[in-house]
Amino acid sequence: MPSVDELLAVIDGYKDEMIEALKELIRIPAIGPENGGDGEFERARYLRELVEHCGFEEIELFDALDERVRLRLRPNIVARKRGTSDQTAWIVTHMDTVPPGDLDSWSYPPFSPRVVDGKLYGLGAEDNGQALIASLFAAKAINSFGLSGEKTMGLALVADEECGNEKGIKFLIREGVFRSGDLIYVPDYGVPDGSVIEVAEKSLLWLKITVEGIQAHASSPGKGINAMKVGSKFMTFLLDHLTEKYGKLNDLFIPPNSTFEPTKRLQTVGNINTIPAEDVFYFDFRVLPEYEIEEVKKSVETIARLFEERSGARIKIETEQITKAGPPSSTNTEAMKALVSAIKMVRGIEPVARGIGGGTCANLFRQVGFDAYVWQTVDGVAHAINEYSKIDNLIADAKVFAAMLATICYPNHFER
Ligand SMILES: [Zn+2]
Repeated sequence: MPSVDELLAVIDGYKDEMIEALKELIRIPAIGPENGGDGEFERARYLRELVEHCGFEEIELFDALDERVRLRLRPNIVARKRGTSDQTAWIVTHMDTVPPGDLDSWSYPPFSPRVVDGKLYGLGAEDNGQALIASLFAAKAINSFGLSGEKTMGLALVADEECGNEKGIKFLIREGVFRSGDLIYVPDYGVPDGSVIEVAEKSLLWLKITVEGIQAHASSPGKGINAMKVGSKFMTFLLDHLTEKYGKLNDLFIPPNSTFEPTKRLQTVGNINTIPAEDVFYFDFRVLPEYEIEEVKKSVETIARLFEERSGARIKIETEQITKAGPPSSTNTEAMKALVSAIKMVRGIEPVARGIGGGTCANLFRQVGFDAYVWQTVDGVAHAINEYSKIDNLIADAKVFAAMLATICYPNHFER
């Protein structure tokens, strides 16, 4: 009988191959149509081959129709290694990335990966390339022993995570890929020492605010209604109001409070001496699950009506995204225990369960009744200029996934 140490040593032997695989993934852009991209088709074509290379014979493609991209489809890859039971331990990762932003700011071109001082730089290296490659090679290591397992081992590589999940994980959930009793891991958030397992998320509300005033010459403000002035006053008043009204703290979460941030603001007039008739800006709110997210939205509407009356401007509120937080996942499940013991074994640390403000696919599972666990080891450079993955984390996380999957799917096959 092979030992767990032998299993982990197999992963050390994959190091160069894993680096090459992550580099190749980064070279093939996979940006959604909302951000001007063509989706994940090309990247998925490469990854499908890689999944096969990692010892999976049962590979299904779930293509979600999307008129906005070339070839009109958003691919999702579902791979299974059957055990005697259909109950499946899933690792779910996403193939898509956000756009690179200002190319000139990158020291290393975002689609030309390179390794410098133990870090692999490139767009999507951390989000979600590292975990995607780590989970694939964890499975490859297990598959290399040619055993037949008990529970089924499953990998889901999904599209459309960065822009709402409609063509990705939501599509797979609707298609019935995941069954009651399955164990769900979503390695799409983590901390630098790997000590946090995310078991809960905040509700999310993205709003677009359009303030409509009346254009005028800047020297005669009385003839117009300055939309930017109204917008700015509304914004600061509203954010203070929400921060106070929804001010509870919950220590499970990092940070423990609800957050209310203005983010994007569109350009108004092109010249300095015109009073703008329009001001358009966006909010990103992350709200603790003890509050109803619909209530927060109602509060925004109430304050907007107040400012409309006072100013004479019109304030339009549009919801760009609203996601209600599902219930926190139990820390007393087989899935949690297997992950905790794998982290202890590989990293020698005792992880803690926490909640976060960021949104991952895990919440979509929690909404429909699954417990889902989010863990990986990353420096938190997702969506940042010069995003990278530490090679040591790539390898160590693959070992954690391998030890965890071995415990769940092959409980009597590896000596401990
Ligand atoms: Zn991600």
